[in-house]
Amino acid sequence: MDLKALRKIGYGLYIISSKKDNRFNGQIANTVFQTTSEPPTVAVCINKKNLTHEFIKESGVFVASVLAKETPMKLIGQFGFKSGREIDKFKDVRYRVGVTGAPIVLENTISYLEAEVINSSDVGTHTIFIGRIVNADIIKEGEPMTYAYYHEVKKGKSPKTAPTYIREEKPMEAKKMEKYVCTVCGYIYDPEAGDADSGIKPGTPFEELPDDWVCPICGAGKDDFEKES
Ligand code: FE
Repeated sequence: MDLKALRKIGYGLYIISSKKDNRFNGQIANTVFQTTSEPPTVAVCINKKNLTHEFIKESGVFVASVLAKETPMKLIGQFGFKSGREIDKFKDVRYRVGVTGAPIVLENTISYLEAEVINSSDVGTHTIFIGRIVNADIIKEGEPMTYAYYHEVKKGKSPKTAPTYIREEKPMEAKKMEKYVCTVCGYIYDPEAGDADSGIKPGTPFEELPDDWVCPICGAGKDDFEKES
């Protein structure tokens, strides 16, 4: 059996948001798909440990905001590698409250679906929520981010809580300069590329990064990095 076969399944990338009382939370998910057209319904698979899971269970509503292809890693890191138990993910993000009362992300998104949960399925580590679409719209014209594009072009990683997580295999070829991996989110600092978002020039070794440099995806400090082996 070769589970890499699973990687040939195509997905998109979404922010799934919900509410609880007057609090909002959201997370990145790739497992969103339309289930029926009459009535229009949509399914999403969410890890039981995630705060968004708790919010969807309590409120019975969720919003799927469809990310644009050019979404910066920072936004994906904010929603995908941080917990709403520690930060307010919507603090510095443009959004509006939808008819369900859950937030619709308006930054780097091209459309959204608002849904009321009509069914759910316990699949062990995760729950599949099926929602009837009660509101939906295009935010702006553009191409959606695909899971393949996120991994192959944006060099993004999946957290271990993702339903589609597969342990990464380390490439065998020799490295000219040492790469360092963020142990929190899996981001790889490549000295040849630098980190343009933080003004780090290409060719900067990890050791020469300023002490206050943080992971551009999850915000972890240098101490949370280890040499890629
Ligand atoms: Fe990180």
